Amino acid sequence: MGVRENLQQVREKVRLAAVRAGRDLEKINIIAVTKRVEVSRMQEVIQQGIIDLGENRVQELTKKITVLPAGLHWHMIGHLQTNKVKYVIGQVDLIHSLDSWTLAEEIHRHADNHGMVARVLVQVNISGEKTKYGISPEELPDFLLALRDLPQISVHGLMTVAPNVQNPEEVRPYFRELRLLAAGHNLEHLSMGMTNDFEVAVEEGADMLRLGTAIFGSREN
Ligand SMILES: *Cc1c(COP(=O)(O)O)cnc(C)c1O
Repeated sequence: MGVRENLQQVREKVRLAAVRAGRDLEKINIIAVTKRVEVSRMQEVIQQGIIDLGENRVQELTKKITVLPAGLHWHMIGHLQTNKVKYVIGQVDLIHSLDSWTLAEEIHRHADNHGMVARVLVQVNISGEKTKYGISPEELPDFLLALRDLPQISVHGLMTVAPNVQNPEEVRPYFRELRLLAAGHNLEHLSMGMTNDFEVAVEEGADMLRLGTAIFGSREN
């Protein structure tokens, strides 16, 4: 199936999940995750009205930004190494993956150099899996408090990557916990839900869905 049909199906599933949860569809944003997707296929989703694009590698991100039209919203969704921060500040709309204090300091420093405020989400490792990046739920309150001392960073919400499981119902508690954490800290945005679990994420309050495979098909490598 083509990208256009895939996107139609995704949008319909999002709509139905929003109806089930009594949520306003307008507030739910699809971020097309375009890692390892060619520019020509990215243009197809842009033609279908997608303006939010997510990448997890800095090199690929910056290369694509230069060839695609201005006016798109770029999201850095993958782990960001401190030595790469300088390439994304001023280029992306939102960094979803603030996952350490060292990274926060580096983002702050470069944002300051640019005379701008960097918009971020704090990545939370809800499941506690060792393989996952993110601040633990226990550390989150102190982390958010400390971030107040970095005025060139503004925190707009939380992000999580749920465990990869067969039955998406299994990750519902993680999404719910992220929502409660965000609410407890008056944070607006919730970046959660990928191809396997985005309908559950919508039901649990996600407003930024990060969707790759559902739109572009499986990545070969
Ligand atoms: C690849 C990736 C996604 C998209 O995954 P799909 O399962 O293909 O939808 C979402 N978030 C992050 C952080 C990713 O690296």
